[in-house]
Amino acid sequence: MRFKKIVIAIDGYSACGKSTTAKQVAAILGYRYIDSGAMYRAVTLYFLDHHIALTNPKEIFRALTQINITFNVNSKNVSETYLNGLNVENDIRKMRVSENVSQVSAIKEVRTFLVDQQRKMGKERGVVMDGRDIGTVVFPTAELKLFMTADILVRAFRRQRELLQRNSMVDLDEVIENLVQRDKIDTTRLESPLKQAEDAIIIDTTHITIDEQVDEVVRLALAKTIVP
Ligand code: C5P
Repeated sequence: MRFKKIVIAIDGYSACGKSTTAKQVAAILGYRYIDSGAMYRAVTLYFLDHHIALTNPKEIFRALTQINITFNVNSKNVSETYLNGLNVENDIRKMRVSENVSQVSAIKEVRTFLVDQQRKMGKERGVVMDGRDIGTVVFPTAELKLFMTADILVRAFRRQRELLQRNSMVDLDEVIENLVQRDKIDTTRLESPLKQAEDAIIIDTTHITIDEQVDEVVRLALAKTIVP
């Protein structure tokens, strides 16, 4: 039996389990995992640290020329985000970044800058990329497109637990507010709003475990990869 390498695009609302699923699916298939949200978060961190005015296109353009985002695999085989050579994996997950990332992601120049890099990363195929516009804009020809959703309370509990694992205690109310706010900005922005691609398969993760999500995606992917 022969297999071809495909692109798996996973889009959906914040904290639906996209990254967790994508990471495990990539490991099982021997694919590269790319967390496009981490790239938007890294740009946001840079903008915050350098006090970049979000309303000044010239300043934004200049700042983007100073940004280099890479992913490196750590000793536990987990991919981590680097900004200009510094490991920012923890910093980009903090509420300070979460509270500003959707405003930064709505900026056209930022999207053009990152989409270009994301396309290069997936050129050889054999990638699982998660985000908001992967199946619609970054890889409209992806062989497998998934759109993940889940109940807001379930998503908030999961995100709160993740933050706790990173030693960050955040009230559930604050987590819910941030998720609702980001979903609103992400779905209503002019540039590449979050929406389900016409050919995407919906996966509602409210009542299923991570293992079930992963099994389902691997099953769908294998069906696409077998060369008859
Ligand atoms: O995936 P994550 O929740 O870390 O993404 C953070 C934010 O980055 C999203 O709320 C969204 O504003 C932005 N994003 C985006 N397009 C992507 C990935 C993320 O606009 N492909």
